[in-house]
This record gives sequence, structure tokens and C-alpha cells, in this order.
Amino acid sequence: MTRYIFITGGVVSSLGKGLGSAALGALLQARGYKVRLCKLDPYLNVDPGTMSPFQHGEVYVTDDGAEADLDLGHYERFTGVPAKAADNTTTGRIYTSVLQKERRGDYLGATIQVIPHITNEIKEFIAEKEGTADFVLCEIGGTVGDIESLPFLEAIRQFGNEVGADRALFLHVTLLPYIPAAGELKTKPTQHSVKELMSYGIRPQILLCRADREIDEDERRKIALFCNIDYQKVIPALDVSSIYEVPLTYHAEGLDKQVMESFGIDDIPDLDLSIWKDIVERVQAPEGEVKIAVVGKYTDLTDSYKSLNEALTHGGIANSVKVKLKFLESELFETEDPAEHLKGVHGVLVPGGFGERGAEGKIKAVQYAREKKIPYFGICFGLQMAVIEAARNLCGIKDATSSEFEKKGTHIIGLMTEWEKGGKKEKRGDDTDKGGTMRLGAYPAKLVKGSKVAAIYDTTKISERHRHRYEVNINYKDQLEKEGIEFSGLSPDGKLPEIIEHKDHPWFIGVQFHPELKSKPFDPHPLFVSFIKAAVEQSRLV
Ligand code: GLN
Repeated sequence: MTRYIFITGGVVSSLGKGLGSAALGALLQARGYKVRLCKLDPYLNVDPGTMSPFQHGEVYVTDDGAEADLDLGHYERFTGVPAKAADNTTTGRIYTSVLQKERRGDYLGATIQVIPHITNEIKEFIAEKEGTADFVLCEIGGTVGDIESLPFLEAIRQFGNEVGADRALFLHVTLLPYIPAAGELKTKPTQHSVKELMSYGIRPQILLCRADREIDEDERRKIALFCNIDYQKVIPALDVSSIYEVPLTYHAEGLDKQVMESFGIDDIPDLDLSIWKDIVERVQAPEGEVKIAVVGKYTDLTDSYKSLNEALTHGGIANSVKVKLKFLESELFETEDPAEHLKGVHGVLVPGGFGERGAEGKIKAVQYAREKKIPYFGICFGLQMAVIEAARNLCGIKDATSSEFEKKGTHIIGLMTEWEKGGKKEKRGDDTDKGGTMRLGAYPAKLVKGSKVAAIYDTTKISERHRHRYEVNINYKDQLEKEGIEFSGLSPDGKLPEIIEHKDHPWFIGVQFHPELKSKPFDPHPLFVSFIKAAVEQSRLV
């Protein structure tokens, strides 16, 4: 029997609902349950793939090729359960599906309405998960009170009613703001938010109250009284210094126990939190520190590089060091000396990216890292910029560039027009739709025996997640290899370069995929472990 937990948010956005859901998933798992997490997003885009990272943060990619909400990354990092395309939907996707059915005539002449057609489509998205886990956690994006969320709230209300109270639980995440003039945390916004939720027919059984300081007993009792919720189920969720403390702190406040009780589960299984205790201990007591420069263009919003930040942290956990990140806007390097910004860093990373702005600056950063023998990690766009740098400065192809941002010149990086997916040919052109048409999701690659990456992965067969439209032109392989750039990973048909590494450098690796998406605190990605290890060695030199 599958039980459903619906997670809504109130008062303000950015309360860490995704993280809270992920942490609860981890706690249920620690009690031996099978969990599945999914996210319902009320925006109109079919998926976040077409949105700027400034708008919505990182676009997370699943093995099965979905461009999904970044919360799916939290879910996967905390539970280790690989996220699937079917774990995320949006208003845009729901409407697209309903309208396609309408055009096909599936509704047999009915007038199509939000209730029941849109709400039924949402309920189907949830019901599909039946039987796939003991607990399905469904997070509703946005904040209660938003117009966009209404069909989702109505759908979960109906769903909860249909499966019955012993199989559905509503958990609401709110904020208690601290008002300095009063010297206290305020409960009123929470009361209003719960009232709003009740006006839609949803009575939350558990409240997760975010606050930046201790919530005293009086405040907790007040919330319990006014919101009609058990005192024990008003759970303080205080800020913590590392997100990996969240499962432990929520457990200490009784979250998982209250969830069990709400479902009427008497025979509560024991729980094993040793993995999380170990991670937190390592995060809290590092034996050193390394400084990594991340040279990108979405550096103002660190959510744009969410998985990357976490994967670097995981690399630090594995090496027992703290990883300090220095985010640098790549355009800086177009006018200023790279040494000014990169001197003293122990590693340089150029992450995924799109478009012309800042590209030349990234190439400058690559050149600095190559020449000064600072560990360099290029991810996707970061690999492409490393190849352009080598073509220009080592092979002497002065006008080497990418057709992504330069019509003229020698296109060492060009638009991918066809590739294999599951034995079938995928074809693309300049005029193809932008949404969902990149080379997306898990693809295998073969690594060259004896290469650095084969040693790092300890295998020659890997599978990694991709999200790109351009590729390194394989015809330049020989020319680049003559200059010491080994093509150490290729697609199984040998046509698409997947990894390059510089032979004459302590650690210089570029990958066409996104290893950060698969890294977990309890299972750090080998490339990040190795990169941070190289940075530790670099820190001993400078
Ligand atoms: N813009 C490049 C491409 O589409 C790189 C993409 C990325 O870094 N994710 O190929």
C-alpha cells in the first residue's frame, strides 16, 4: 500500500521545501521504507529547460532525459533514488496533455474545464506512482495563495479524500519571521497561511516551521491552538550551517515519528542514521581547506549551479577538506588579468553554459589554468572552451571557435546534427524547436585504457547525463592529440568526444556531460573526488 505525503509551502517562497521533502524522504528510507519523491510546478513552461538559470536556478537532468526542476536534484542527493522524467510536471505539461486529448476527441464532446479535466490530469500524475514505493512525497511548487497553485491544491485535496486519511498526509512548510522591535518570532503569517490552505479544504496535519532562532514553547502552543494542530506536530525547522544536517535536525524534532503517527503506524521501524551522522561529522571537522574558482556567468545566483556546488562539497567530504568556492563572472577576464582573480586558487572550474557572453573570458581562464598548471575541470561548455583554447594556443588555429556564438572562423565546436539514442538516429537542425531537443539524459561512453579518467573511474565503461547541443568536431582529434590533448572518452560509436585530458598537466580534464548531477554526499562522484584531491595537492605547493 502506497502512502502519500503532500508538501505545500506558505508565507514566502524559498523556504527550502524541496530540501525538507528530500530530508523527510531520507528519514523514511532510514526506517527501511521505499520512497519516491515528485514535484508539481505551477508555472506554464512545459519544463524548466527553456528558462534562464537566473529565473529558476539550475535545470536538473534525469537519466531518461527530462529537463527538470532542481528540487529533483535534492531528492536524488538525499535518497540516492535516481530521479525520473515522470517525477516532475508543470501546469504547461498538464495543459499540453489535456489539449492534445481534446484535439484527438478523447473527451467525447465534453466542455473542457479546469475542474475536472485539469485536476484529473494532475491526479493521474500522482496516481501513476501507486505501488512504486511505500511513501510517495509530492511537493507542490509555489506558495499557498498563488493563483497558479489552485488547480494543484484542488487536485491534492480530492486525491487525499479519495485515498482516505490513513493514506494521505498534508505537511505545510511555513516561516516564523523574527521582528527585532518586538524581540520575538511572529506566528501570524503562519496562522494566515494555514487558514488559506483550510479555505481550499486542506487541513495540514504537520507544520514545519522555518525560523532563524529557537521557537519557544509559547509560540509553538499558539500555533498549535490557532491552526488546530497537535503541539507535537508543530515542528521547528531552524536554519543549519550545512544542508546535510537537515535529516538529523528534523529527526531530533520528531518529524519522522510524527509522520508515522499521523498515518496511524503503530509498529514504527527502527532507524539507522549512521550515514548522515558520518557525513555531518566530516563536514563539521574538515582537516584543511581548498579554494576553487568557478568561472561562469550565472554567478549572482548560486542556485544556478546547485548540483555543482554540492558535488564540490562531496569531493571535499571525501578528502576531509572544506571546499571554499570563489564565483567569478567570466566577463571579468576579458578586460582584466586572470592572475588578479586566480592567483592562489587551488583549482579552476568552468561549468556548463550557453551563448556568447563571457565565452572569451572563460577561454582566458582555461589558458591561465593550463599554463600555470592549476587543476582544471571543464564541464560541458567548460570542455568546449578548453578545446578552443588548445586549438588556438597549441595547434595554432587562431580563429578556432564554436558555431554557438560565431558564424565565421574555424568551428572546432559545431552544432550536433545527428546522434544515436537507444539504437535510433536523432536528427537536429538550426530550425529545430529549442525546448527538449538537446542531447539529453544518460548516454554511455568508452574510456581509453591507461588514461587518467579510466583510473579515476576505475572502469572503461561509464554512463553520464548530458545536456548539450554542440560537440567537439572529431575531425580535429589527431591535430589536438599531437599537442598532448588526449581524447580519453568517446561515444561507443567513436563519433562524439566525451572527455579530453591534457597529458602534460597535473589535472586537466574536460567532460561533455554533467557528472555533478549524479554525485551524492554518501557516494561522491569520482571526478569530483579526484579534482579536489588534486586541489589539495596544489594547496601544498602554493
Ligand atoms: N552550450 C553548449 C552546448 O549546448 C554547452 C551546454 C552546457 O554546458 N550544458 O553544447
